[in-house]
Amino acid sequence: MSLMSNTQSRNQLLFERAQRTIPGGVNSPVRAFRSVGGTPRFIERAQGPYFWDADGKRYIDYIGSWGPMIVGHVHPDVLAAVERVLSQGFSFGAPTEAEIEIAEEICKLVPSMEQVRMVSSGTEATMSALRLARGFTKRDRIVKFEGCYHGHADSLLVKAGSGLLTFGNPTSAGVPVDIAKHTTVLEYNNVEAIEEAFNAFGDEIAAVIVEPVAGNMNLVKGSPDFLGALRRLCTKHGSVLIFDEVMCGFRVAVGGAQQLYGIEADLTCLGKVIGGGMPAAAFGGRRDIMDHLAPNGAVYQAGTLSGNPIAVAAGLKTLQLIQAPGFYERLGAQTARLAQGLTEAAREANAPFVADSVGGMFGLYFADNVPARFSDVTKSDIAGFNQFFHRMLDAGVYFAPSAYEAGFVSSAHDDAVIDETIAAARRAFAAQAE
Ligand SMILES: *Cc1c(COP(=O)(O)O)cnc(C)c1O
Repeated sequence: MSLMSNTQSRNQLLFERAQRTIPGGVNSPVRAFRSVGGTPRFIERAQGPYFWDADGKRYIDYIGSWGPMIVGHVHPDVLAAVERVLSQGFSFGAPTEAEIEIAEEICKLVPSMEQVRMVSSGTEATMSALRLARGFTKRDRIVKFEGCYHGHADSLLVKAGSGLLTFGNPTSAGVPVDIAKHTTVLEYNNVEAIEEAFNAFGDEIAAVIVEPVAGNMNLVKGSPDFLGALRRLCTKHGSVLIFDEVMCGFRVAVGGAQQLYGIEADLTCLGKVIGGGMPAAAFGGRRDIMDHLAPNGAVYQAGTLSGNPIAVAAGLKTLQLIQAPGFYERLGAQTARLAQGLTEAAREANAPFVADSVGGMFGLYFADNVPARFSDVTKSDIAGFNQFFHRMLDAGVYFAPSAYEAGFVSSAHDDAVIDETIAAARRAFAAQAE
């Protein structure tokens, strides 16, 4: 560290160079560290629970590529599975047996999914699921919830209008108002609001899309009442209930949030874990709905690299590894131990902070209570989080570089790794209190 403060760090040099040819220097905005400030770390390699940046500094990695690396980086079995297929060809544009295997595995693990189609990103999965729901119901309107992220398709980059049930407004330049107006945005975990919406225009709603465990406004758990109401109202009004489990699928339980809550979605979107770190995602669900997809049905959807053999090999092996006996018990216990340890460390320093977890996901909140909706998250002490983030980063612990993101633990995060994190947090909270 002392050496680096005199010379310029390689991270800094790379960031300056990156900004010349890549907008903002990054290929996805959260990587730019804009919300926490400072220089993004350029990662050179990873192993197990760690990665190393361009200055050779080691970090305990709590983002795991935003969820996919659930068995840790470069797991030997995943590596071997990828190596086995590498020499057989990278992509064929024709069907393979491995695509059937991963489809069968996904449908086995998530029983509401009778059929599944592979795509290459979560954005594609949600975009395709929405089109399918619209084609199936012959309706246009969709309902989403404030603070949930479903990728960057036009219909989904929408915020609430001025009144509770008014037209949605684009959150991004380039999204036509004419598209955003078909999206209604309601408050997460608010049963009254969804009941009111279905009363007002239930027969217009093609789909309700929700993160059953939200991980893109920090970690916010859906309440059983809320998710139950969505299920009941969608069934009653013939709307398609889409669980966007791109993040929470295979993260909070082996069958995803729908297993945890005992609620079946009509369509489910998956991503992140199912690619094991490779670009793979999927959407699927009821056979009578999926049958509307081309080539059987009239809803068009396609992908040159969909079901790519290398991505499928990494994903399939990862899906097999998470079925090891006790995998989720251990992952959940380890993540809960981290959350409890951080909460206790904060309490010792009288810092207004709590942490929470579900399965291998956790949330860090600079607030007195665990949030239930987006407006709770916005009220947390963002400046406090940013200070903590940088103290931890200096100590070699890499949390998500934003107070609005969740964290992820892998099966490679052992007791020593968790203890090292808690010890670093104790020092960070103490320094913060001074
Ligand atoms: C990450 C994410 C997406 C988008 O997936 P990409 O692969 O980044 O396009 C969609 N929905 C949820 C819930 C996500 O967490």
